[in-house]
Amino acid sequence: MSARVVIIGAGSAGIAAATRLYEHGFRNVTILEATGRIGGRVHTVPFGENVIDCGAQWCHGEKNNVVYEMAGPLALLESSVVAEKNVLLKSDGEVVQQEQTDRLMILAERIVESEDLYNSGGTLGDFFVERFTKEVNEEKMKDIDRKLVRQFLEFYHGYQKGYIAIDSWYDYPADDDSEDCEGDDSLSWMGKGYKSILDLLMKRHPSQNNAEPIPIEKNIEFNKFVENIHWNKGPDQPITIRCADGSRYEASHVIITVSLGVLKENINTLFTPQLPSVKQNAIKGIHFGTVNKAIFEFETPFWTEMGNTFGLLWNSEELEKIRTSKYAWTEGVSAFFKIDRQPKLLGAWMMGKECRQAELIPDSEITEGILFLLGMFFKNKQIDQPLRMKTTQWFSDPYFRGSYSSPSLATRLLKTDYKDMAIPLTDSLGTPALLFAGEATNGLHYGTVHGAIKSGWREADRIINFYKK
Ligand SMILES: Cc1cc2nc3c(=O)[nH]c(=O)nc-3n(C[C@H](O)[C@H](O)[C@H](O)COP(=O)(O)OP(=O)(O)OC[C@H]3O[C@@H](n4cnc5c(N)ncnc54)[C@H](O)[C@@H]3O)c2cc1C
Repeated sequence: MSARVVIIGAGSAGIAAATRLYEHGFRNVTILEATGRIGGRVHTVPFGENVIDCGAQWCHGEKNNVVYEMAGPLALLESSVVAEKNVLLKSDGEVVQQEQTDRLMILAERIVESEDLYNSGGTLGDFFVERFTKEVNEEKMKDIDRKLVRQFLEFYHGYQKGYIAIDSWYDYPADDDSEDCEGDDSLSWMGKGYKSILDLLMKRHPSQNNAEPIPIEKNIEFNKFVENIHWNKGPDQPITIRCADGSRYEASHVIITVSLGVLKENINTLFTPQLPSVKQNAIKGIHFGTVNKAIFEFETPFWTEMGNTFGLLWNSEELEKIRTSKYAWTEGVSAFFKIDRQPKLLGAWMMGKECRQAELIPDSEITEGILFLLGMFFKNKQIDQPLRMKTTQWFSDPYFRGSYSSPSLATRLLKTDYKDMAIPLTDSLGTPALLFAGEATNGLHYGTVHGAIKSGWREADRIINFYKK
C-alpha cells in the first residue's frame, strides 16, 4: 500500500497506529517525534536496582484492557504492592489505627464506585462530601474521632485529585461516561517497566519468541517538533507538515497523537486552516491536569515494616505553619508509596497547583522539602539523606504540558466531549485527512495507556477501511 501516512508522536497511540498500519501492508508510514525517544508518557528509566516509570506505571484492570490482553497471557504482570497495606499518617507522626484506616478507605471506595454517583447531577466532590458526611454520622462510624474524619476527607480529596489529575473534585462532573476495567486495578511490570508494552506492540519482546518483529522504528524521525500542518489545500493536494527545524513532509493522511496539553498550547498555530469550532471546543473544554512523582533511593529503608502506601493527614497547626514556609508546595504531596521490586525506593505523589509550582524548584530543594515532610510524618524514624532522586516535570515539558486528561465542568459548559476529540477531518473529496488519536480521544478509557493504544488502532483502522472501500 503506497498511501502516505504521517503519524505525529511516537507514544503508545502513535506506535499502536503505525504497527497496525504496517500489519495491513502500509509501508509508506513516517512517524515524526519531537523528543529523542519513543514512548511519550510511557517513560521507563534505569534507577535503583532496576527501573522506575516516570509516567504510566500500572496496568489498570484486566477485562476490556488491551494492555492486559497482550501482557497478561505472557505472564508479564503481577499484582502491585500498592494494592494492599494502606497506612494513614498524621503530621505529628501519629499512625492512625489500622482498623479505622481500613473502615474509612472501604467507605470512601464504596462511595466513589456507587451507582448513584452518575445520576447525582453535580460533581464528584458534591456527591462524595454529602454521602461521606451522612455515613460517618451513622451509629456504626460514631466511634471514629471527628477530627480524624475531617482529616481523612481532605486526604481523600487529594488522593482523587491525583487519580483524576484535576485540581478539585468540585470540577469533575459526576456523570462521567468512562469505564473502569474489571480485575486487578494495579498490575506492575515485574521490575521491567511499562516500556515493555512498546516492545509488545512492535512484536519484539523476548517473550514473543515466534513473532516476526514489526520494523517501524526505522520509520521514526526523532527530534522533529511539528509546528504546522497545512491540511486542506484543495482536491488532490497533499497535506504539508512543517517541523521546527524547517524540514517539510507531505502526506495523504496525518494521524495526530500529541497530548491534549500540546494541542491546547499550539491550537492557533498548529493547523492551517484553523480547526473547525467543534474541534476547538473539545480541545479547550476537556481538562488536562498534572500529576508528578518524586522518587528517592535510601540506603536504609525506614518504612518497610509499616506498610506499602502512606496517606498524609494534616493537623491544622502543622498545615498553617507549612503554608507560610518555603515548603508550601509540599501540601501537594498526598501520599508516599513503595515501588515494586525496589526495596530501597520510596515515591511521593504530587498533585494540584502545588505540584506545578514544585516543577520550578531545583532538585536539591525538592529533596530538602521531602525530607522535612518525612521527618514530620515518619516521626522517630532515622531518615538519612537519600542516595539519589528523580522528579518528573510533565507540565513544564513543552512536548506534554501536563499528565493526562479528564472531563471537567468546562467540558459540560462548552457542550463538548471526547467524541468530538476523535472526529476525523476530511478534505473536500471526503478523504480522512486529519485523524486524531491519543488518550484524550478515548472517552471510555481516557488517561490510560490502554485507552491510548485503542485510539491508535481506531484511527489506523479508519485509514485501512477507507482503502478497502
Ligand atoms: C505521571 C503519570 C502517571 C501515569 N500513570 C498511568 C498508569 O499507571 N497507567 C496508565 O494506564 N496510564 C498512566 N498514565 C497515562 C498514560 O501515560 C497516557 O495516557 C498515555 O501514555 C498517553 O499516550 P499517548 O500516545 O496518547 O500520548 P503521549 O504518550 O503523550 O505521546 C505523544 C507523543 O507526541 C510527541 N509530541 C508532542 N508534541 C509533538 C509535536 N508537535 N511534534 C511531534 N511530536 C510531538 C511527544 O513527545 C510524545 O512522544 C500516566 C501518565 C503520567 C504522566
